[in-house]
Amino acid sequence: MGGLGEFLDIPTLLYTVAAASLCIFVSLILTWSSVRGETYILSWAAAFGLALVTMILVALRGLVPHTLSVTVANTILLGSFGLLWLGYHRFAGLDSGRACLTAGLGALIWMIMAAATPLLDNMNARAAVLSGIELVYLLFIVVDLVRHHPREPLPSVGLTAVVVGVHAAMQVYWVVSTIVAPTEPTAIVLPNSLSMGLRFTESSLFVVFLGLLQLVVIGQRSERRYRIAAETDSLTGLANRGHYFDRAEDALIGGRERGALILFDIDHFKSINDTHGHPVGDRVLIEFAAILRATTPTGGIAARIGGEEFALFLPEATTDEAVGIADRVRRATASLRVAAVTGTVGLTVSCGVAGVRETGSDHQALHAAADRALYDAKREGRDRVSIQRPPSSSPQVSLGPPVLSVR
Ligand code: GH3
Ligand code: MG
Ligand code: MG
Repeated sequence: MGGLGEFLDIPTLLYTVAAASLCIFVSLILTWSSVRGETYILSWAAAFGLALVTMILVALRGLVPHTLSVTVANTILLGSFGLLWLGYHRFAGLDSGRACLTAGLGALIWMIMAAATPLLDNMNARAAVLSGIELVYLLFIVVDLVRHHPREPLPSVGLTAVVVGVHAAMQVYWVVSTIVAPTEPTAIVLPNSLSMGLRFTESSLFVVFLGLLQLVVIGQRSERRYRIAAETDSLTGLANRGHYFDRAEDALIGGRERGALILFDIDHFKSINDTHGHPVGDRVLIEFAAILRATTPTGGIAARIGGEEFALFLPEATTDEAVGIADRVRRATASLRVAAVTGTVGLTVSCGVAGVRETGSDHQALHAAADRALYDAKREGRDRVSIQRPPSSSPQVSLGPPVLSVR
């Protein structure tokens, strides 16, 4: 046992992990310097900076005063755990003034206990108290990440929750084993035992892996944000033209039996802009997009494909179901009132529908057919739904109000 214990020499392990932590600290600071608004990165960097100081102080145990390498080192360690949690809390968008207090509370409790009770002179008691406080912060991190994950489902966030959860379970194991089988109760210098060596190995793996995961998390968050921005229309939040075409084309690959496309064009939109101003025009587009989003069934792709032109691709709908959906949007639009300085603005929309069954599953053909149907709806008086049928089948159908209604 002694041989293996010496093989896992603790000061050497500590110096090695301190060197790795220094690299992670520098990488986090560098990353933060280009995105200074992201304060969670700074919290993580500060956590690694403090952990680094702790590791050096603990490795120097016996060479520096006891108070420095025990009381001060562990205060810094708990501060580091507090900052680590604060970083994940901020990452999850949950920052508050109270969170900063919570982050410092662990170190404060430790300092009070160290000053007020001789209990912490005992190494086993120290280890149990430290692991207990660390455990609370680790569990806080897991809770924050698990609650945040559905909103930002990054693989690295899920893995972080698992890694932190496993380390939390190890803390429980160490607390229990320290209580059940305490070793060298008065030791001040770290013993080189096998169990201590394994414990430090596990902690070292946790520290290094967590730091690397943090760098991956930052990268994946930024990649996801840029991808979403590149795919989204910034005014309405719907898919933009490029993303819509990519997705609709992908959905039609391999041929389909069902599927339909509706194209929408707001009627006389130019006159809304001219009469009420561009900002009211923008408001109209946002409100229309909200109607479209609310009417889109699961699996449907709603997009803004031009100034006041929108598309709704329905991969599972028949042409008749698409006509029903288009008419729901048309009617909701006709009853919409958008606030303007001079009162409210009403509007109507024309809709063109084409189905895969009639046009085949080539996206260009489907789009061209829906566009022709939209043109028909405009020509026949606007505020209506028109369906494009192939010339051989039944005549084109047009669905709209009995009286031409143009506002
Ligand atoms: P129609 O009934 O035939 O569709 O007539 P229209 O006036 O809706 O069509 P037209 O194509 O003549 O006008 C579209 C207008 O949409 C012109 C353009 O200034 C306006 N527009 C395009 N993008 C935006 C935008 O992002 N915001 C606002 N407010 N207006 C926009
Ligand atoms: Mg237009
Ligand atoms: Mg228009």
